[in-house]
Amino acid sequence: MSSPLDQPQKGPSFHRGSFTDEIANARTDLSRKLFLGDALGDTPSLSPTTSATPSTPELDGSESPATTPEIEVIVTPGSEKQALVADSFAFAFDIDGVLVRGGRAIPEAIEAMKVLNGDNKYGIKIPYIFLTNGGGKSEAERCGDLSGQLEVDISPAQFICGHTPMSEMASQHNTVLVVGGEGEKCRTVAQSYGFKDVITPGDIIKTDSATTPFRKLTPDELKNSKARDFSNVVIEAIFVFADSRDWAGDLQIILDLAMSKGGRIGTISETFDEGPPIYFSHNDVVCYQGQDAEDACLRQAPDQHLRVCHAALETMAEEEHNLDSPPNTVYFVGDTPESDIRGTNLFNEHAENDWYSILVKTGVYQDGTEPAYKPRVTVDTVLDAVNHGIEREMQRRKDRQTARKPRLTSMPTLSLEDGKGLHDIAVLSPAIEREIEMGV
Ligand SMILES: [Mg+2]
Repeated sequence: MSSPLDQPQKGPSFHRGSFTDEIANARTDLSRKLFLGDALGDTPSLSPTTSATPSTPELDGSESPATTPEIEVIVTPGSEKQALVADSFAFAFDIDGVLVRGGRAIPEAIEAMKVLNGDNKYGIKIPYIFLTNGGGKSEAERCGDLSGQLEVDISPAQFICGHTPMSEMASQHNTVLVVGGEGEKCRTVAQSYGFKDVITPGDIIKTDSATTPFRKLTPDELKNSKARDFSNVVIEAIFVFADSRDWAGDLQIILDLAMSKGGRIGTISETFDEGPPIYFSHNDVVCYQGQDAEDACLRQAPDQHLRVCHAALETMAEEEHNLDSPPNTVYFVGDTPESDIRGTNLFNEHAENDWYSILVKTGVYQDGTEPAYKPRVTVDTVLDAVNHGIEREMQRRKDRQTARKPRLTSMPTLSLEDGKGLHDIAVLSPAIEREIEMGV
């Protein structure tokens, strides 16, 4: 075995004992444990989408550490592009004003999708999800629309509509009133969520047209609405899924029920506090009976949606990428300081992971103005937002690795004479040796 001392040495090598022929082994062991252990344990970490053995030098340790001075590039560009996915960070996007404007994709949004799907210099895929206030269509229908606009396949699991959080309440109520949207779409969506008995304003008006004397049902509404005997029906909750197409009539019905005895149509509470709870998804409003609606809207809606968003990312990590934990950092990209940025910042205050707000200039926010709620960063477009998040993660990774290196380079050294000159040998203390053995 050739000794490393046969070759010119520029810096200190590592010495485990007093035998020069152990130096190469010690250095190899040390480098592997530090470099490889760090690469596998630090964020952003990468996980193969399949169970295939990682093939990058950093992950399989096949390459000599002497030729791997710094782990900067995770995978060789052009190779394994579809095999690795970042498991430590993800993106969540508002849609209108960020990805789509006026019904058409913002050009940079199409590019951003390509970057997220692996067309980046690191060759990694990054999980992402969409969040929109809009409603009135199923998640599948909405993501079909967006897939066409962004030229990328989007799964319904990646799509959080304004009314998606209401799906969690389907098991809590038997009979509910669902308001908003076109025709029967919201009834259909509610039923798909698992709501067992869904009533629409049309059902109530068809049963008793005097309920809303100034609203007449259209022929289609008359055909689809279901008249029934409401005398023994208890409406346990009201869900406003989307924009009402007739607020006057719908609000009349909502108020009648809010003032009723326990959600029974035609009754009036003496205390006006016996009505069913009312939940608004549109405009990010979540309103509970007895609570100030505006206050509830501003404080609770972002939590509700982002909590569902967090759960969706967690599910995606587990089911699509075989990861056992949600991302450490979620970059939320929005165009509206009052909702997107405020909601993200509020959610981040008590989230277990880091929700990082990014404001773009392609929508509501006007460049040059002071945003009412401060994002962590403001960029021009969603493509800039994606690149910012990726580079931030990579820089954090480098910083962590750099922070560990001084401990090694500042070690005491021992000069050894081998007949060809003096060579500096780093001397490891027992404590450091122990840390290395433990892979710290
Ligand atoms: Mg928006």
